[in-house]
Amino acid sequence: MTEMSPVRLFVRLPYRDHAACVGEPPEVFFPERGDWQAVEAALSVCARCPVREECLEDNLNETDGIVGGTSAKERRRLRKERAKAHGYNRVQDMPYSLRGVVTPIPHGTAAGAKAHRRRGEELCRRCREAENVRRLERAERAS
Ligand code: SF4
Ligand SMILES: [Zn+2]
Repeated sequence: MTEMSPVRLFVRLPYRDHAACVGEPPEVFFPERGDWQAVEAALSVCARCPVREECLEDNLNETDGIVGGTSAKERRRLRKERAKAHGYNRVQDMPYSLRGVVTPIPHGTAAGAKAHRRRGEELCRRCREAENVRRLERAERAS
């Protein structure tokens, strides 16, 4: 599947069609620790990407790899900065109802469905679909 996006979470998002990383080998975005040349290569793809901002917002919670023109460390710093702007030291200290303004829900995943529930929200369409798929898979395994 050569046109697979390297980023697990946004594969299904509408702006995927414009992503500069579509068609790049996924491993480009997961450079070895300390391999600065490889990091630069990944960042240069993001630098020419027209949907970098949307991508970063959607993947701010990603703990691995280069995404949205940032490293995991930079994303950690960004999350922290945003929590601070709301008067909290860390995202973990924030009430669930407020976390959405700092770390977006990873829609379309099981984690996304869980996050909606914790915040007392209805599941969005993509999270509901992801849950249905999981349920079907579980039922298939059990039968
Ligand atoms: S910003 Fe980078 S990771 Fe995100 S869609 Fe663009 S090229 Fe891909
Ligand atoms: Zn959702």
